[in-house]
Amino acid sequence: MKSDIRVCSAWRNRHDRPVYTLGSTCPDCGEPAENSAPAPFDPDDRYGEYRRALKRRNR
Ligand SMILES: [Zn+2]
Repeated sequence: MKSDIRVCSAWRNRHDRPVYTLGSTCPDCGEPAENSAPAPFDPDDRYGEYRRALKRRNR
């Protein structure tokens, strides 16, 4: 099933991790949300991207 999930375009600056939304703007900071394609997470592992994001932060 394809869903229209978007991600905050400014999450790297505004948030510790990607902020996903179904709307056109981020619910947290109001920045525009952009299409998250390629899908940043696997439906079977929806927190995988969160874990990878946390790893990236530690670099
Ligand atoms: Zn945001």
